[in-house]
Amino acid sequence: MRSSAHLNTAADYAAVREIVLERVGQQWCLFIDRDGVINRQKVGDYVRNWTEFEWLPGAVSAIGTLLEWAPYVVVATNQQGISKGRMTADDVAAIHRQVRAVTKRDMLEINAFQVCPHLHSDHCPCRKPNPGLLLDWLGHHPSVDPALSVMVGDSQSDLELAQNVAAITGGCASVYIGPPGVPDRIVDVSFNSLQEFTFAVISAQGELR
Ligand SMILES: [Mg+2]
Ligand SMILES: [Zn+2]
Repeated sequence: MRSSAHLNTAADYAAVREIVLERVGQQWCLFIDRDGVINRQKVGDYVRNWTEFEWLPGAVSAIGTLLEWAPYVVVATNQQGISKGRMTADDVAAIHRQVRAVTKRDMLEINAFQVCPHLHSDHCPCRKPNPGLLLDWLGHHPSVDPALSVMVGDSQSDLELAQNVAAITGGCASVYIGPPGVPDRIVDVSFNSLQEFTFAVISAQGELR
């Protein structure tokens, strides 16, 4: 476990190499948070339609690369704006159809979008950091090794989610995406952006060849 906030050090690259090596030839799933990782988070508001969806720099090509690496890629996102009546589940599904279309690479595309529409006060099993979104998908894909799951996210709840999944499946690597200087978090690797994480994956794959 890292003891200091991320500096994109050699330690991060070494940890990514380990994550990549451990998964060569395996059936596993890369889970990615949406807001703040793929697209810009709207502070205090929700992305209600495609017009309001703003890609983060390099995210589209990063997802393309990640699709070539991971046998399965699933976006896992809390969208309580649905229960608040700010947008509908159909609105969110329409956004996700666009995300899937834009990031599609040859025959590869994001396998699923797992969405929690509930309010924090609903105490549902799927609102992150609860593990329901991931466990639900893993439960429907028994050929996938759940202990090789990887969770990429920019919030404390994503990292707690990884721990909660690991407690049940026996493993779930955590990748923190965010600016340097955030307080210490218990994560396996940290990068400033999905793009930077992807560069580390490419670098690790190059070394393994
Ligand atoms: Mg997020
Ligand atoms: Zn839920």
